[in-house]
Amino acid sequence: MALDPVCGKPINAHTAYWMIWYRGTPYYFCSEECQLKFDRKPEQYRLQALERREKAAVY
Ligand SMILES: [Zn+2]
Repeated sequence: MALDPVCGKPINAHTAYWMIWYRGTPYYFCSEECQLKFDRKPEQYRLQALERREKAAVY
């Protein structure tokens, strides 16, 4: 299970709307809207996604 880096929804890699590679990591998106937002500010969303992963690792 991956997380949409823009809206934070859990995404099933097989049913994701879209997937892109950015800096060697795959990112999955629930919709075109999220993918376009990521496209505009990839670095901002990459850092957000990293933060979410660190928080999730606490549990
Ligand atoms: Zn989304």
